[in-house]
Amino acid sequence: MEIYQHIFEYTPDTLFVIDQGGRVILANAQAETLFGYDRSELINQPVEMLIPARFSALHIDHRARYITQAHSRSMGGAAELFALRKDGSEFPVDIMLSPMLLHGDQLVLCVVRDITERKAAQDALARQTTELRQLHAELELLANHDGLTGLYNWRAFYEYAEQMLKTAHRRQENATLLMIDLDHFKQINDRFGHAEGDRVLQAVASTLKAAARENDIVARHGGEEFVVAALGLSEAESLMAAERLRAAVAAIENMKTRITTSVGIATLTPQTQKYETRRILAELLDKADQALYAAKHNGRNQVCHFNRLTDLAQPATS
Ligand code: GH3
Ligand code: MG
Ligand code: MG
Repeated sequence: MEIYQHIFEYTPDTLFVIDQGGRVILANAQAETLFGYDRSELINQPVEMLIPARFSALHIDHRARYITQAHSRSMGGAAELFALRKDGSEFPVDIMLSPMLLHGDQLVLCVVRDITERKAAQDALARQTTELRQLHAELELLANHDGLTGLYNWRAFYEYAEQMLKTAHRRQENATLLMIDLDHFKQINDRFGHAEGDRVLQAVASTLKAAARENDIVARHGGEEFVVAALGLSEAESLMAAERLRAAVAAIENMKTRITTSVGIATLTPQTQKYETRRILAELLDKADQALYAAKHNGRNQVCHFNRLTDLAQPATS
């Protein structure tokens, strides 16, 4: 039997044997090391002396229930468990319990493992995961949004506008593109400096975003050009929507000069055939661009629909 005593004594885990009343019957060398008590201070003492005071009542309760339905309990359950050293310090633990019947007495073998390091590693991993998630969200934001205005960038616009075209096709609704270009913007930069130009772009962006409908896609096409995609507008309604945006920008205050825009519009009516959205989007952008060119040509600060281009206003093709 001596060998069993040796196994109990020198096993690298902390071992206790607890009696039915919750008193420590045996503790091994590792228990002394881990908790900082001499064995003589532990024997016959309530096991609650090894548990932070705030958990004592709960533990007594658990222990009473465990005795009535004793079964093996593995380490690393869902609950976070803490133990208390003689010096008053706490540390996180895993605990494994195993019922033993000895000479008619119901005893419990209790294995305690200090998981401070493992928990620190888990916490660090959880922190890193949170940081990575944040970083990922920031990267996604950067990849989809224009840094100056916060609007969707051209890449995101293509993606969402293609989805919108698919929706329009499925619902057999119109899809509308508005191309919005600031008039004589170069002069603003030249007269007031690039920083003021940037401020104008930001003001125009937020005005367009606020004036557009919630489901419209508003993006910075690049430079001083913006684009809006909308679902379900008739040609006449698209002209009114464009006019509303133009007027909203013209009404911007607190800038060093009045800002005006020209707007080109193109409408895609419901198609019977299935189509390649990328190609249709490119065609629609091209038409909106031609209408924009006509609006510029006709004197700027106005809106123009591709379907209403007169020969006079048509851009030269040669
Ligand atoms: P038009 O009425 O014909 O559109 O004339 P415009 O001066 O607006 O057009 P143009 O294409 O000649 O000039 C556009 C200017 O926009 C030139 C460029 O320096 C300026 N620009 C482009 N991107 C930015 C930007 O991010 N910030 C600032 N401040 N200016 C920009
Ligand atoms: Mg311009
Ligand atoms: Mg331009």
